[in-house]
Amino acid sequence: MSGVAGNLREIRRRIDAACGRAGRDPRSVELVAVSKTFDADAVRDAVAAGQTVFGESRLQEAEPKIADVGGDLEWHFIGSIQRNKVRRILGCCRVLHSVDSLRLARYVSNVAENLGVKPGVFLQVNQAGEESKGGLTPEEIRTNLPEIATLESIELLGLMVIPPAADDPEVARHWFQELRELRDELAVATGIALPCLSMGMSDDFEIALEEGATHVRVGSAIFGARSYRVDGELG
Ligand SMILES: *Cc1c(COP(=O)(O)O)cnc(C)c1O
Repeated sequence: MSGVAGNLREIRRRIDAACGRAGRDPRSVELVAVSKTFDADAVRDAVAAGQTVFGESRLQEAEPKIADVGGDLEWHFIGSIQRNKVRRILGCCRVLHSVDSLRLARYVSNVAENLGVKPGVFLQVNQAGEESKGGLTPEEIRTNLPEIATLESIELLGLMVIPPAADDPEVARHWFQELRELRDELAVATGIALPCLSMGMSDDFEIALEEGATHVRVGSAIFGARSYRVDGELG
């Protein structure tokens, strides 16, 4: 068994255990295996171990890898999205976790309509107001959600967060709780259901699951330590 296969088994076991503690059905959780910086062979190892959903954060890296691996896999885009790349991102990814403005949401919907696709979309929330990170503030979400919900060529799945870096994973719990509370508040205020929460990475996915995550984005705990940084904020 490759390292990747063993790691995946262990992550799935920990997902089951966290769901058990939270009284949740593990089948309600999507494990997004974040393969950024790892090559097509690593993805193939994961596929051989039964993984079908993968996440990438840079288009120039993702496009050739996705073509190389081939097959019937589901790719999610988790990195920051430039408008001029939207068409190509929609050409290879079915779900976008990082739509971070009303303007971008409108644009994604227009391009999707043009291409005849209907991508799943998460709105990225910048709860802590960090300058270095994209995302709508809770206030912007409250204001813009009604319009975003009318966009016809996106399937609005829910909210996504990358909490501020902290040494103690328990600190993230606070941000995960806030994201869930924001979602619940929006549902009451607008009647718009946001069924999914994309939150939790290698160091804190169990905490995220306890707080209601439906999509966990796990990279290094599956593929190993990354040897170089991908972008300004997350290695
Ligand atoms: C890299 C990345 C992840 C995965 O991080 P790990 O700590 O390796 O699990 C998750 N989400 C986003 C947005 C990322 O950029």
